[in-house]
Amino acid sequence: MLEICDLVCGYGGVTALRGISLDVKLGQLVALIGANGAGKSTALRAISGLVPPRSGSMVFDGRNITGARPPRVLACGIAHCPEGRKVFPHMSVEENLMMGAYLRTSKAEIVADRDRIYADFPRLAERRRQAAGTLSGGEQQMLAIGRALMSRPRLIMFDEPSLGLAPNIVERTFAIIRRIRDAGTTVLLVEQNAFAALEMCDNAYLLESGKIVLSGPGKQLIENEHVRKAYLGG
Ligand code: ATP
Repeated sequence: MLEICDLVCGYGGVTALRGISLDVKLGQLVALIGANGAGKSTALRAISGLVPPRSGSMVFDGRNITGARPPRVLACGIAHCPEGRKVFPHMSVEENLMMGAYLRTSKAEIVADRDRIYADFPRLAERRRQAAGTLSGGEQQMLAIGRALMSRPRLIMFDEPSLGLAPNIVERTFAIIRRIRDAGTTVLLVEQNAFAALEMCDNAYLLESGKIVLSGPGKQLIENEHVRKAYLGG
């Protein structure tokens, strides 16, 4: 579904990705793991069109999205749930959700999706008129996920969804991500919590200093000695 080939990108003098290739197959949950600064967020930003590639190619669903601007990437069916949640703090919960649907035209379908999200996240329904900036971290994470889902993506990318959340909320967030995959949406997940990511994914890639050094089924990477020592605490 998404095929990235030899992608190089960076910021000014910094080369963050040094030629990465990866495949995300339809219906899979694919995890991208690695240490701080390995380039995971940059990979998601590059796919979204937020960081221009220096070389390499990205094809989504047969369409070349290399160098495409963010609105086009979104229109192709890719949603990005960024690190730090990044909800619009002065807008209400409902307005944030509606922003996720700004490229869609069918009012009835938008309302039906909004109501489904409220049914899934009753806390958001209760706070629908409240400014998003006043929500707790966990609620903002739910809102960021809901907003991404409002674009009806075919591929949804999560950047560190567990960051800064209480353990019970982390569990809930991971359960929601699994459910999104089980409902048929393809997922690309960037996670610091390597064990959780490897356990729930179909396939995983390990990024070190801007290069993919290992890939395979999550369960296989959990057994890998290097992964165990460097990322799973032995
Ligand atoms: P983290 O989990 O800390 O976000 P990461 O694996 O997602 O780590 P990136 O954020 O993609 O890593 O960063 C990869 C490299 O690019 C790092 O060396 C980082 O310092 C650099 N970098 C990231 N964003 C910028 C930026 N806006 N300007 C300059 N350099 C950046």
